[in-house]
Parts: sequence; C-alpha cells; structure tokens
Amino acid sequence: MSTDTESVEEFRARARDWLRENLPPASGTEMKSDSEEAWDRARQLQRVLHDGGFAGICFPAEYGGRGLSPAYQRAFDEESLPYEMPLLLNVPTLAICAASLLDLGTEEQKRAHLPAVLRGDELLVQFLSEPQGGSDLAGLTTRAERDGENWILNGSKIWSSGAYAADYGLCLARTNWEVPKHRGLTMFLVPVHADGVTVQRIKQVTGSTEFCQEFFDDVVLPADAVLGEVDAGWAAASRLLFHERGALGGTSPYTSGARPHLGGDPDALLRLARATGQLGDTRVREDVGAAHAMTVVRDQLIDHITQAITSGALPPAAGSITRLFSAENAWLQTDTALRIAGPDGATHAPGAAADTETVGLDYLFRAAWSLAGGSTEMARTVISERVLGMPREYAADRDVPFNQVKRGRN
Ligand SMILES: Cc1cc2nc3c(=O)[nH]c(=O)nc-3n(C[C@H](O)[C@H](O)[C@H](O)COP(=O)(O)OP(=O)(O)OC[C@H]3O[C@@H](n4cnc5c(N)ncnc54)[C@H](O)[C@@H]3O)c2cc1C
Repeated sequence: MSTDTESVEEFRARARDWLRENLPPASGTEMKSDSEEAWDRARQLQRVLHDGGFAGICFPAEYGGRGLSPAYQRAFDEESLPYEMPLLLNVPTLAICAASLLDLGTEEQKRAHLPAVLRGDELLVQFLSEPQGGSDLAGLTTRAERDGENWILNGSKIWSSGAYAADYGLCLARTNWEVPKHRGLTMFLVPVHADGVTVQRIKQVTGSTEFCQEFFDDVVLPADAVLGEVDAGWAAASRLLFHERGALGGTSPYTSGARPHLGGDPDALLRLARATGQLGDTRVREDVGAAHAMTVVRDQLIDHITQAITSGALPPAAGSITRLFSAENAWLQTDTALRIAGPDGATHAPGAAADTETVGLDYLFRAAWSLAGGSTEMARTVISERVLGMPREYAADRDVPFNQVKRGRN
C-alpha cells in the first residue's frame, strides 16, 4: 500500500502487523558485534525490512528510502522493540556514514551506495581516529597524494568499529600539508577490501574483537572516491561528526529500532535486583529509582533537543548536550548494576544470579561511552564554544601550516 497520505497512526498499525508477520521475536541475547555471523544476520534482516518497505524510513525515496518524517520512524521504532532488528547497522552505517553520504555525495555516489546500504548489501564504517589520538582529529597524518587522476593513500586508522565486516570506510586523509591543519584534509570513500588495505582486529579488555586497526600501503583510489571537495574534508568531517553526535545522543532520524549506544536499561536493573533477592533493600530501591529517573530525563532531553535543533532554536552542535547526558547516564546505569550484582559482577561464580556476567563486562566497557563519538570532554568544549558562545580554547597550531606544526619528536 502507498504511504503518501498515510497518517503516523495508520503507518504504526501497518508496521505492527507487518512486524508480527515478518520478524522473529527479540531473544534478548543478540549476537555480539565481533562475529561475522552477527553482521550477516544484520544484513539479512535489513533486506527483510527493505523488501517490506520499512528500510530507510527517513531516507529520500529516490535513494531507496521512504521519504517520511522522523515521527514515522519513531512510531516504527516503538513497534519494533519486541522483534529482532538489524541494530548493528544503525551505527555507524546508517545513522553516520549513509547520512553523511546523503549530505555530501555526488548524485552518482548517492545512487551507487545508498540503495545498496538500505538493502543491507553494503556496510559503511568510519576511518577517522589514528593511533596518535582521536580528539585532535584535524591533526591526523594519514596522507593521500595525487597520482594523475588517482590518489595514493598511506597511513593508519584505529578503533574502527566493525571494519572487518564492512565494505567501505569514510576515511579522512591529509591532502595538503602547506596549509593549517583544518584546511588540508579530504574525505575519501575507501573500499575495505582494496589492494593495500590491511585490517587487523584489536582485542579489548572485555574480550571483544570488534575494533580494528587499518594500514594503508599505497592504496590507489580513483578521483570519484573523494566525498565532498578536495581539501574541504573538515567540512565533510564536521557533517559526519554532527551525524555521529545525533546517533550517539539519540537524536538521529536514520536509526531504526531501539535507540543505539545509550547504555543501560532500568528494567534490566529491576530484573537484577529481583534475581539477587534485593528488591526489598532500601538502597537498591533508591538506586534503581534514580537510574529509572535518569533514563526518563534522557529520553525527554533527546526529544527536547531534537525539536530545538529542528526548529532552529538551538544550533546543530547542541547534539553534544544529549551525547554528554547519554554518557553520564550510561555510567550511572553500569555502576548501579555493578553495585547490585556485587562480587558476582566480577567473578560470575557458578550459581550466580543471571545477567551478572553482562554486568561485569558492561562495567569494563563503560569508559567507551564517554569516548565513542568524540569524548565527553570534547563534547563539553563544543557546548561551551558553539552552543553557549564562550571563547575558543587556545590552540598552538591554529593558523600554522601543518608542515610547520611540531608533532611527536620533531
Ligand atoms: C565504542 C567506540 C567506538 C569507536 N568507533 C570508532 C570508529 O568507528 N571510527 C573511528 O575512527 N574511531 C572510533 N572510535 C574512537 C573514538 O573516536 C576516539 O576514542 C575518541 O575520538 C577519542 O580519541 P582517543 O581515544 O584517541 O583519545 P585522545 O584523543 O588521545 O584523548 C585522551 C583523553 O584526553 C582528553 N582530551 C584530548 N584532547 C583534549 C582537549 N583538547 N580538551 C580536553 N580533553 C582532551 C580526551 O577527552 C580523552 O579523555 C571509537 C571509540 C569507542 C570507544
């Protein structure tokens, strides 16, 4: 049925019926993002959504989406919660990379990649951070040099989530060393499986191997691999980071299903308190209540900031407010869970209450919530400078040609 004149409530009812018929119930133990199997499953589920007409609800119809407003996506999200969804594709593929491609790509690039992404045929990741540091993104040293019509890419990227399973990486590289750092960058679409690209998986303290480091050795990229303008990569990266803040702060219209990367679930805390026989403990009750209240506030803040950015009352950089709050909330939820689980969270001893292993692993991973998508310190800087209009922080390399900036041991 055509959706042109369908109200949100009609759409919701149609989605509810379709979901019941077409998607399996969520098991609550979804596969981890460090297995090929999990990514294959996500691709399959995305295909099911696509064929059912529920993929890319807010992406334009000419690129394979539905061209509907965020209210339709939110209705779909709510209805989809009981079902298994391709949540792995939300971040970074859909909400960051495809969203950036939509803003920055040429017509050919959009037609080549967006329908494939929405069908689940193409996974996109971000190649931004480098081994010497991710916060000073504009100070990166991966280089792309012209060779006739082509570019030759050399360098290394790190912390690329899910790169081993991806098809393309949006890669920021330095193309001009004679100008200040922000002005000599270019964004490229790099095929992950091109000659000269080596992807190595990194084992984290949690045991997960989702993160990767990539090495680029004379990778040949055609002229049409450039996303946006040559040497205007900072504008492209700013757009990408805007989408990243939206994705991690919960304001992106391009994710589908449960909101991504928001960390913690007060209902899980309640289950944990029950499983460990602490429902009657006053301190535990207060902790669970506080965690629940924070989550309610977070959800309302997300709605409020989304509306304020949409109406122009706040600048797009205000996405950093929800990004910061979401990280604070994720820390509170994981810390609360560990307090309730007690030593079982560390030992997961035989006979321990259910879920305590997850509690311990979530605790180990919790620093990630204040780093992923740019650190919370950098979010505070964005809020002070670009939302509150406070003076910019001092930078010794501002307006200095990059080849004259002191780096490392030079
Ligand atoms: C779950 C997760 C997924 C990620 N996925 C990707 C990905 O797909 N692709 C990708 O490219 N990267 C990814 N990253 C990397 C992420 O973008 C970086 O971790 C982040 O930008 C911080 O960079 P860094 O870790 O190198 O820390 P650094 O930049 O070395 O910073 C270290 C600490 O110093 C602080 N700091 C640095 N500069 C300042 C300053 N000027 N003012 C105040 N404090 C400062 C930081 O806030 C941080 O606490 C991911 C990270 C995580 C945790």
